[in-house]
Amino acid sequence: MRPRYIILSLILILFMSLLSAQIVPDLPGYKTLKCDFHMHTVFSDGLVWPTIRVDEAIDEGLDVIAITDHLEYVPHKKYVSTDMNASFEIAKKKANNKGLICIHGAEFTRWMPPGHLNALFIQDGNKLLIDDFLPAIEEAISQGAFILWNHPGWIAHQPDKVVRWYDIHQTLVDRGWMHGIEFANDHEHYTGVLEYTNKFDLATFGNSDVHGIVLREFLQKNNHRTMTLVFASEKSEKAVKEALFAKRTIALSVDDILAGPEELIDQFVNACLKIDGYTLTNLSEIPYTFMNKDQGTYVLEPLGSLILPNVDNWEITNVWVNKNENLQLQLGQ
Ligand SMILES: [Zn+2]
Ligand SMILES: [Zn+2]
Repeated sequence: MRPRYIILSLILILFMSLLSAQIVPDLPGYKTLKCDFHMHTVFSDGLVWPTIRVDEAIDEGLDVIAITDHLEYVPHKKYVSTDMNASFEIAKKKANNKGLICIHGAEFTRWMPPGHLNALFIQDGNKLLIDDFLPAIEEAISQGAFILWNHPGWIAHQPDKVVRWYDIHQTLVDRGWMHGIEFANDHEHYTGVLEYTNKFDLATFGNSDVHGIVLREFLQKNNHRTMTLVFASEKSEKAVKEALFAKRTIALSVDDILAGPEELIDQFVNACLKIDGYTLTNLSEIPYTFMNKDQGTYVLEPLGSLILPNVDNWEITNVWVNKNENLQLQLGQ
C-alpha cells in the first residue's frame, strides 16, 4: 500500500469512528442498546443489498437491527427473489460473530386504517402473506411476534399528520396484538403517539425506515440515525425481546428528541446528567434543552457543562413524556 493510501485509510477510519458509537449511559441492571427496528433492502423497495444494512449498523455502533421488508410491496420482483425470508437470511449470515444482533422482521403494508405495522421476531415471513389483515397478524402472533405500528402520522396516510386511533387499532390492543408504536420515523416524529402509548401501555420507538444509504439519508447532516434505545439485561436477542415486551424503550430521533414513559425516561436523563446545584454536566452525547418561562432557553451540549440561573423549575423541551408534556427537571433540592 502506498503512503498516500495509508493516510487516506487512516482518515477514513478516523471519520468512521467519529460517526460511530453515540455515548449513552447504561441504567442500573440494564445495558442501553442502540437499535433500529425498521429498514428496507432491495427485497422490497429499498435500494441496497441486505449485507450493506449490517455494515452500516456496525459502522454506526448499533447493537441491534431488524430487517423489515414490505410483505405486500415488492417492486423489484422482476430482478430479485420474492422469498420473504431472503433479506433476513443474507443479513443474519453477515452479522454472525460481528457483535450485531439481527432480528427477523417484516412490514405489513396496508392503507390507513390500519396502516403499516412491523412484525418483529418472526419465524417465517412467507406465512404472513395473507390477504385478510387480522388473520395475517394472528399468524405473526402465533410465530411469537412483537407488533409495532409504524409512522402513524405519515403524510401519505394522514395529510394533516395527526395521529388517529381507529377501531382496528383498538381491536389489536384488546387482543394483545399490538405492542408498540413509532414516535419517530425517518426524519419525522409524532408527539400524538404518546397519548396512546401511555393510555394502552405500549412501547415507544424511533426507527430509521431507511430505504437508501444511511450515510446519505442521515449521517451527512446528523451524527446518528433515528433509533430506539432498549434497556436489556444483556446484549442478546432473547433479552432484547424481553425488554421490548416489558416496554423498556425510548425513542431517539435523528434531531435528538427523546420520548418514552415518564419514569423510565426520567431515570435515563438523570443518568445522562451530573447535577451539582445549578451546574449541569452532560455525560452523554445527547444534547438537552432546558426552558423556564421567566428565564428562557439554555442548551446543554453533548459532553458539555452549563450553569443555569438559580431557578428550580425547568422543562426539558427535547424530552417528551406525553402528547403535550415535556419532562420536568427540579433543581435546588
Ligand atoms: Zn411503512
Ligand atoms: Zn418501512
